[in-house]
Amino acid sequence: MLLEVRDLHVEFRTRDGVAKAVNGVSYGVDAGETLAVLGESGSGKSVTAQAVMGILDVPPGRITHGEILFQGRDLLPLKEEERRRIRGAGMAMIFQDALSALNPVLCVGDQLGEMFVVHRGMSRKDARAKAVELMDRVRIPAAAQRVRDYPHQFSGGMRQRIMIAMALALEPALIIADEPTTALDVTVQAQVMDLLAELQRELGMGLVLITHDLGVVADVADRIAVMYAGRIVESAPVHDLYKAPAHPYTRGLLDSIPRLDHKGRELRAIKGLPPSLMHIPPGCAFHPRCPTAQDVCRTDVPPPYEVDEDRRSACHFWRECLHG
Ligand code: SF4
Ligand code: MG
Repeated sequence: MLLEVRDLHVEFRTRDGVAKAVNGVSYGVDAGETLAVLGESGSGKSVTAQAVMGILDVPPGRITHGEILFQGRDLLPLKEEERRRIRGAGMAMIFQDALSALNPVLCVGDQLGEMFVVHRGMSRKDARAKAVELMDRVRIPAAAQRVRDYPHQFSGGMRQRIMIAMALALEPALIIADEPTTALDVTVQAQVMDLLAELQRELGMGLVLITHDLGVVADVADRIAVMYAGRIVESAPVHDLYKAPAHPYTRGLLDSIPRLDHKGRELRAIKGLPPSLMHIPPGCAFHPRCPTAQDVCRTDVPPPYEVDEDRRSACHFWRECLHG
């Protein structure tokens, strides 16, 4: 397993109390595999990723329990210097908002080239040539001319390609993409997602794709982990999950997106809002919104029941959901 997150817990101390952002998350990604982590905002999907990247150490975020194994080695006990080295060459992250992630006063060629100067000890000239090569690779037209342009001179889609190029520069084994296409319009979204998926396959990287949009991941993900209130409520191969969800929350998400094979079916959004992470409901955290909640759901936290060899659902009534 390339990346394995084991029973991760993350808290945030705020003036109003402790927010339990991640409450026992476990997931794994193999080389060459794409795992989509799906959830509404505040579900803990980004916080988990930041913990993996080692960029959570902005107080007041704190990992209180768990392990993060990368290529078999637990990252959490490592010193910051070592984490930084892994962050450069082993794993890289793509953020939603390229404009704030890129340096506005450096031309893109210098930003891309910097990776090779710092991590590979290349000369400025060679690094510039590598930058052009990368821009070509992510299909930025006229790369050799545009290498001296600044981030604001590119369109949103092109900037996102530059972010992908930055992430790929050192050919990391793992890429974490946090809502990489959310800020883009729909046509451009599909192009950027296709590019990312293609490069992932070509380079055999592991990809963790974080999204709130189930529609985006169907074609690119191998597996999906659905998060709610800091826990994974369902994890499954993507096609199994689409065919028949084993958790009412997943069912609600599927029912709220337009699907070609469900023509004419009424679109329903899940009623209510996700809970405050300072007041997670007892029992199943989804029970206040769940259309099929029973008494036991209000008191007993559902464990990750084994639905299938490679499939889990944290619902006491997963059988009824699966066959319902
Ligand atoms: Fe709904 Fe109960 Fe299943 Fe939670 S455990 S999703 S409340 S049926
Ligand atoms: Mg987020």
